[in-house]
Amino acid sequence: MIFLCYHGVTKHKSKNIENFSGKHLDKEIFRKQMEILKKKCKIIDIHSIYYHLKNNIPFEKNSVAISFDDGFENNFSQAVPILKKLKIPAIFYICPQNIEKKQMFWVDKIESLIINTVRKSIYLKSLRKNYLLKNNIDKKKAILAIKKFCKSQSVKKKDDIINELYFVTKKKNSLKLIKNYKIASWSQIKSTAENHLFEIGGHSMEHNIFTKIPKNKLYSEIKNCINLIKKRTGIRVKHFSYPEGEYNQKTIDILKQFNILSCPIATGFLNDKNTNLFKIKRVMVGFDKTKFPKF
Ligand SMILES: [Zn+2]
Repeated sequence: MIFLCYHGVTKHKSKNIENFSGKHLDKEIFRKQMEILKKKCKIIDIHSIYYHLKNNIPFEKNSVAISFDDGFENNFSQAVPILKKLKIPAIFYICPQNIEKKQMFWVDKIESLIINTVRKSIYLKSLRKNYLLKNNIDKKKAILAIKKFCKSQSVKKKDDIINELYFVTKKKNSLKLIKNYKIASWSQIKSTAENHLFEIGGHSMEHNIFTKIPKNKLYSEIKNCINLIKKRTGIRVKHFSYPEGEYNQKTIDILKQFNILSCPIATGFLNDKNTNLFKIKRVMVGFDKTKFPKF
């Protein structure tokens, strides 16, 4: 069984270096991919994945499932109509705090601040580094370096770096919203969940990496995520995915305490009947030029 992971589906042709990682896949390419799956594969949903893995039942040949991480607005305005038309099931793993605050993900804030700044270079005290921002190549390099560094830091240190970045880049611009980075609304989540094809899963409160959250706060992080989704939509979350695919045994233990049934990772390829329910492999599509598998 191949579990595909998408992030966004877009109809916007990117200006400058917006979406340079390819995280938001062109809508027509997505449509073609779904048509291929419909023709060649046995498309299953998250309940079927759970049933097979829980009971060690082999998957049918060419089994495939679809997931979306993060909860971008374009999942619901662009991808869902295509999925509905082709009757393809999918699970959407969402970050309720980003929806609640209508705020961009922290990785997208880094991207947006650097893309939109008019400054030709910036100095980040917290990294003790100067970044040239004269052209798009410089900007891409800076975005990748700052993101990479932030991912290795504690949540607090990462937040401090983003605050500093906001301060040093904002002199003549603001945090302009890049259309693709818009977050879904609660009403989009609710109306999507009413369709039996679709399932809503948790993906942390606001995409902080579980292994970078202090251990004594991890329990409330997961609890708050489940509770906020329940409060706003009435949905009891049964499935999760790890932000950035990062997890440890403590994370798995807490998820199980909240009766979470499965949680995929962000790497790997083929799953079989013996795959661990909390380590389901996934294939990224679009993101960082990853390829759609051949069926
Ligand atoms: Zn994510």
